[in-house]
Amino acid sequence: MLQNNERLYHLGQVPRVSLGFFPTPLHRLERLSESLGYDIYCKRDDLTGFNIYGGNKIRKLEYLMGDAVAKGCDTVLTYGATQSNHAMETIAAARKCGLTPIVYLVSLVEPDPEDARANLLLDAIFGAEVHIVPAEGRTEAEASREAFALGEKRIIQLEGEGHKCYNIPEGGATEVGSAAYIAGYGELLGQLEGMGGKMEYLFTSTGTGGTMAGLAAGKAFFGDDTEIIGIQVSPKDETYRDRIVRIADRALQYVGADDIQVSRDSFRYDGRFYGEGYEIPSSEVNEAIRWLARTEGLLTDPVYSGKGFYGMVEHLRNGEIPKGSTVVFLHTGGTTALFAEKKIIGDLVSRS
Ligand SMILES: *Cc1c(COP(=O)(O)O)cnc(C)c1O
Repeated sequence: MLQNNERLYHLGQVPRVSLGFFPTPLHRLERLSESLGYDIYCKRDDLTGFNIYGGNKIRKLEYLMGDAVAKGCDTVLTYGATQSNHAMETIAAARKCGLTPIVYLVSLVEPDPEDARANLLLDAIFGAEVHIVPAEGRTEAEASREAFALGEKRIIQLEGEGHKCYNIPEGGATEVGSAAYIAGYGELLGQLEGMGGKMEYLFTSTGTGGTMAGLAAGKAFFGDDTEIIGIQVSPKDETYRDRIVRIADRALQYVGADDIQVSRDSFRYDGRFYGEGYEIPSSEVNEAIRWLARTEGLLTDPVYSGKGFYGMVEHLRNGEIPKGSTVVFLHTGGTTALFAEKKIIGDLVSRS
């Protein structure tokens, strides 16, 4: 068994580039706590930076780009929806590291090439090679598979020309990306302890599951007993838990903690709150976004963090969590979606 300080040493040895501003703030949501009868904190990973706001992907990208640079890559490819935060943040990270960014984006919401909005606008400013893969009646998963296949073809072509490519799956959900949330978990535990608190429940929105995997791995790594609850932003099949456990275990191996494994029941996820699906706005979520904005002056978005916040509030209001508990909302960012197409923001402004 490795000693704790030895573990921390290994964690600190993982290749990493500096992109964002860490530690991100942790603060108590005073008015929300009062209103709901809980001790609620917000972990501000929406403020990781380093260009516009930030988000959970910047934390992962410090490790992913660290790995890419360590391997001598000059090009980075990734995948997502047209308004993908992960794709935009990967492009920015690649620019900062001097690598060429290439992205394959599935258009669930048809972009207007004459009027690029939100992340697509930023992708254009950063000057990435952007390929749009129309979903055209296919499922998100089918279109994503095609995008990935196109990326692999492009890699063969580029490597034939002497380039070295780093291929990042959607959401940066690999053991390398998730390992960042082992360190992030430690950062959060330390901050709460410094504020005299002890985390009991940790809520976050979950998509690819890479962040949840990192949190579950972090919980195991630090021997913590917080209940981790992920609010799903899209439907997933029954392989979701296995996938998260697998990434979490590999992340622990990646940081040299191969003697630790996550237990399958060390995290929960909840699929009751995404409404009709990914990038499809929901009136209940939009109501929760307005309520948080008007209670705390804090912004979330209709695709990810708003759905996560809504799911957390429902758990608290339904009495699924004992009153007075210490609850942390991990804010994963995504607020550029507030400037996206009407199809994505829905009725956010149309009701009072
Ligand atoms: C990607 C993303 C998530 C989900 O993170 P995963 O690691 O893919 O589960 C949550 N919130 C925002 C804003 C995101 O961009």
